[in-house]
Amino acid sequence: MQPITEELVKDTIAKRSDDSYKGTYGKVLVIGGDADMGGAAILTASAAVYSGAGLVTVATHKTNHAALHSRLPEAMAIDSADVEKVTEQVKKMDVIAIGPGLGLSEEAFILLTAVFSTVTEQQQTIIDGSAISLMAEYDLPYPKTQAVYTPHLGEWEKLSGLAVSQQEPNANTKIQQKIGGTIVLKSNRTEVYVEDAVWKNTVGNPAMATGGMGDTLAGMIAGFTAQFEDKERAVLSAVFLHSKIGDELAAKQYVVLPTQIIEHIPSTMKAYS
Ligand code: AMP
Ligand code: MG
Repeated sequence: MQPITEELVKDTIAKRSDDSYKGTYGKVLVIGGDADMGGAAILTASAAVYSGAGLVTVATHKTNHAALHSRLPEAMAIDSADVEKVTEQVKKMDVIAIGPGLGLSEEAFILLTAVFSTVTEQQQTIIDGSAISLMAEYDLPYPKTQAVYTPHLGEWEKLSGLAVSQQEPNANTKIQQKIGGTIVLKSNRTEVYVEDAVWKNTVGNPAMATGGMGDTLAGMIAGFTAQFEDKERAVLSAVFLHSKIGDELAAKQYVVLPTQIIEHIPSTMKAYS
């Protein structure tokens, strides 16, 4: 297991070229937020926007649209109940982040299967929260895409079949090899499983143990993979900076809120660019 280093992050966050425009930095679609959990999708989309993704669209329950537009005017919204419209959007995207606040309803399952059969190997798909739980519950086939799974230990238990006490690097690696893609196994010391290596996050703190923190990480991963060439390094850098911002805020605060992490993404990326 190797640590994610500051040098790796600095090498990943490239200077922006003068002649770049929003198209240079990728199109992201966030799919999530049912009628009860719209905040999760708003956090994910906000983290993607504040990470510098070129264009961010959110497919979410209609009742979340007004809140999304007022919190995050940079994002566009579509109705997640319109499955055909969502899959049409999926085809145009570089990165799809599915799952935050999506819920476990039948509608969510139908939407997830439609999205999974639409995404391609050219696209990056972040699979988080409810999407992981639904995959496990219905034994869905793994999508043919560049997948980044972001389970916490409980979600990993469902997807991998490994009880939390059995989740050690060798066992986790075997499951990663079966599933393919990247596994971001979230905990107080998040581990990232890729094809031939395991990376460990060495930053982060318990002031970050609050709802919405994982949704924020999913959005950072989406924003970073939308922009940076090396996808593995993009994921690792998002994991590191999410926690690093958390540490900087926790030096002066008892708790750190996801919205505060989001606010500090642009300045922290500048410091590492
Ligand atoms: P989730 O459970 O999906 O909301 O994700 C929680 C996020 O917060 C993950 O990125 C965790 O790594 C981070 N986090 C939660 N608790 C801690 C902790 N005690 N120390 C460091 N990071 C934490
Ligand atoms: Mg979560």
